[in-house]
Amino acid sequence: RLGIFLRMLPRENRYARVMLAGEDLVVFREGLAARCTYRDVFVQQRVWGSVLTEERFYGFWMRTLLAPVKSKPKTKKKGGQKNSGGQNTSDEEGFSQVITRGSWSDEDRLFELAVGDSGTAGAIYLNENENRSTTIKVGLDGAFNPRVQVGGSIFSPEIRNLDPYSEEGRLHPSWMDAPAHSMYLHRGTRLDGLLKDDYPWRISVQNGMIPKTGKIGWIVDIERSDGDRGKEFNRICDGCSSTIYKVWHKCTECDEFDFCSKCVVHAEDTHNHKFEAIT
Ligand SMILES: [Zn+2]
Ligand SMILES: [Zn+2]
Repeated sequence: RLGIFLRMLPRENRYARVMLAGEDLVVFREGLAARCTYRDVFVQQRVWGSVLTEERFYGFWMRTLLAPVKSKPKTKKKGGQKNSGGQNTSDEEGFSQVITRGSWSDEDRLFELAVGDSGTAGAIYLNENENRSTTIKVGLDGAFNPRVQVGGSIFSPEIRNLDPYSEEGRLHPSWMDAPAHSMYLHRGTRLDGLLKDDYPWRISVQNGMIPKTGKIGWIVDIERSDGDRGKEFNRICDGCSSTIYKVWHKCTECDEFDFCSKCVVHAEDTHNHKFEAIT
């Protein structure tokens, strides 16, 4: 058997051959067989001698959420210790719960997946105020399309014999299989991301530069919305590729460079020029 590792290119049904962890694998390891999916693909062969560097942040930057996240400092589990999983899902003392396999910081708000992995990247039970908490989940489905849940239950519906209060239970990807009419699940595509603007939420997942990582990755914005986006400019943001509404930030030094109101906040790191705000 041969092992050929492919990277999806930014066009439908295009792939490039890559090395795995710096190694050109020709023999297929037995252990990988279970993770295989069989498909017909056309391969664009990259000429050896130039190694493709991984310039993508593989995961999500939770740039805008319904409220600032204040999570409880994570207590480290000792190896082998069984997770007793308290029965308490409500937030204590105004804290939000953040569940992820990787690390989390309230300031950076990055959910990272292992390169090539799919599934739940992270879940937040967001404490907005003393009366309201909202579930937010993000992840990639089996074909690497972004999925977002806003509202609904923090629990995944089909977890077999897992403890529903455990991290594994709540990170189980079965929430992505909600029926098409679900009002909580939002499906994006691998190429175009997601943009839904409807009462009560505006949900956007777009590829863009994540200043903290210096790499391109999925940028997530979740805000309350009355469905009114405001004035639309015939402009695409050069930071996150979304259409610009309400305020158009135009670079005063470049001929054609525009930012939306979210990307202009980080202009110092991404495009350090003077901007003019046009309404
Ligand atoms: Zn933008
Ligand atoms: Zn400029």
